[in-house]
Amino acid sequence: MIKITLPDGSVKEFAQDVTPMDVAKSISEGFARNVISASFDGTTIETTTPLTTDGSLILYTWNDKEGKKAFWHSTSHVLAQALQEMYSGIKLTIGPAIENGFYYDVDFGDNKITDADFKAIEDKVLSIAREKHEFTMRSATKAEALEFYAKENNQYKTELITNLADGTITFCDHATFTDLCRGGHIPNTGIIKAMKIMSIAGAYWRGDEKNKQLTRVYAISFPKQKDLTEYLELLEEAKRRDHRKLGKELELFAFSQKVGQGLPLWLPKGAALRDRLEQFLKKAQKKGGYEQVVTPHIGQKELYVTSGHYAKYGADSFQPILTPNEGEEFLLKPMNCPHHCEIYNTKPWSYKDLPKRYAEFGTVYRYEQSGELHGLTRVRGFTQDDAHIFCTPDQLDSEFKKVIDLVLYVFSSLGFENFTAQISLRDKENRDKYIGSDENWEKAENAIINAAADKGLNTVVEYGEAAFYGPKLDFMVKDALGRQWQLGTIQVDYNLPERFDLTYKGSDNELHRPVMIHRAPFGSMERFIAILLEHTAGNFPLWLMPEQAIILSLSEKYENYAKKVLDLLENHEIRALIDNRNETIGKKIRDAEMQKTPFMLIVGEEEEKNGTISIRRHGQEGKGNVTITIEEFAAIVDEEIKKTLKVFTV
Ligand SMILES: [Zn+2]
Ligand SMILES: [Zn+2]
Repeated sequence: MIKITLPDGSVKEFAQDVTPMDVAKSISEGFARNVISASFDGTTIETTTPLTTDGSLILYTWNDKEGKKAFWHSTSHVLAQALQEMYSGIKLTIGPAIENGFYYDVDFGDNKITDADFKAIEDKVLSIAREKHEFTMRSATKAEALEFYAKENNQYKTELITNLADGTITFCDHATFTDLCRGGHIPNTGIIKAMKIMSIAGAYWRGDEKNKQLTRVYAISFPKQKDLTEYLELLEEAKRRDHRKLGKELELFAFSQKVGQGLPLWLPKGAALRDRLEQFLKKAQKKGGYEQVVTPHIGQKELYVTSGHYAKYGADSFQPILTPNEGEEFLLKPMNCPHHCEIYNTKPWSYKDLPKRYAEFGTVYRYEQSGELHGLTRVRGFTQDDAHIFCTPDQLDSEFKKVIDLVLYVFSSLGFENFTAQISLRDKENRDKYIGSDENWEKAENAIINAAADKGLNTVVEYGEAAFYGPKLDFMVKDALGRQWQLGTIQVDYNLPERFDLTYKGSDNELHRPVMIHRAPFGSMERFIAILLEHTAGNFPLWLMPEQAIILSLSEKYENYAKKVLDLLENHEIRALIDNRNETIGKKIRDAEMQKTPFMLIVGEEEEKNGTISIRRHGQEGKGNVTITIEEFAAIVDEEIKKTLKVFTV
């Protein structure tokens, strides 16, 4: 008998050579039908692999990441088989599962493949899949493996095998097809019910441009046709919501090759949006006892040598700026923390003065390879909504709770309701690699765990994910399309206070080290606005919209009345514009809809006569307009804003 430990901690005894599928069936037949992959003591195995020793078994379904991986990996074998049967003389190379689906890199030789061929290939894959082939793993010696691919004249697989150690080589067989493979398959091909080729692209063998260019076939597969349909709809919606597209349409930001890659230019509407977000956070921070500071965009190289950033990131950063005469070296500021440490150091502090909370919308510059740049989410210059809290170890608990309150306030005001908090702690086995005393670490880790529990956060704890200088808490937010983003982060730091020799006088009259907390609820303004754009599709909460209303005059005759309405709206602090163009009302409405302006206020003869406006809401075509007074409209706007934007209280 062998003992099998399941993820819930339960231990069950089975006869030797029991398979993961047998174990699944012992739990329930229904569950077993959904099991598509397994791992034993951390190694991926087949659901048919006999288990011979005690160990921990995890059974995966389609809902698990590992399950999807096995599903897509298995489909890539079927795709390879289909391609080999359809195109003569092609050479298969590698075909791994990726985050969404899988790909196969193929040397198509003289064959050509275009979008027009996708359908036939998909049909072929599905017809093979329907035959319910099982995957069988088989060991081979290096000599056997080389001989197999010598016959196929496949130099790519030959190269792969040459680099493998004899005794570690395995093949996977299904139907009439054989591929070099390490394992991890679904029970049979019959559960592949939908498959789509997403695109083809050129890819160099082994990613080296000196090598031959192969064709990479990207595809994805699902256990239900409905899943594929939903996936494609989600992709379409993501395209419509792409922040680069919306940023252009809404005239928020732009990039200029002349200014430089990865350096966003904020247009007036985008700058106003950023400013509103900044004012919103500044106001809450002021209540939270933060003090604003301002620091320069560059700092002496020495500053970052002291902080340790230079040793760690120097070679991969923008290189130093030299002064013409003095031989000084400056670095573009990659982070604000060292500057804030020096602000702390401008005077001696007593424990009674702490905590000090320095906040700055600090713009930092980090080098990213040009190929890595992406809209506002990967840039070379960005502004952090940064703050550093310097406190005594005993204050950590309450400071952490306060920061969580602030982060939750930010999320609720901006419509992010679905998030988890990831707590990153030390690796328990390997405590030497962290700086700071055990006692302090315990304090900090407990402060985070307690604060998260106290605030009722939905948490995941990750051991070994802490930085070497302290534990942290990251907020992972799910957007409207179900995609996960990392937003706010709160991080404890024992390292910088040491490096910058920060001190305070304790009640014992001795000098002590303060603890430092780094925190940024938005993360960066650029990335946050990108995520917010994709989450809301540009329909920001009303308090944040660039324009809350646009006045559309039915003709030039009502220009004066439109101006009067605008004045009244301004009195109510409603942001509005007038569209006085000599265009039809239909065209004006279409343009306002494009700009996602929440309220369209139509004015004509009737409205002027009665001192009213006709309101049409964004995206509510055909609902009919409501005619009301400006006062009534102002009350509607006010009420809607108050629903999302509450007052921050401490
Ligand atoms: Zn395989
Ligand atoms: Zn920092």
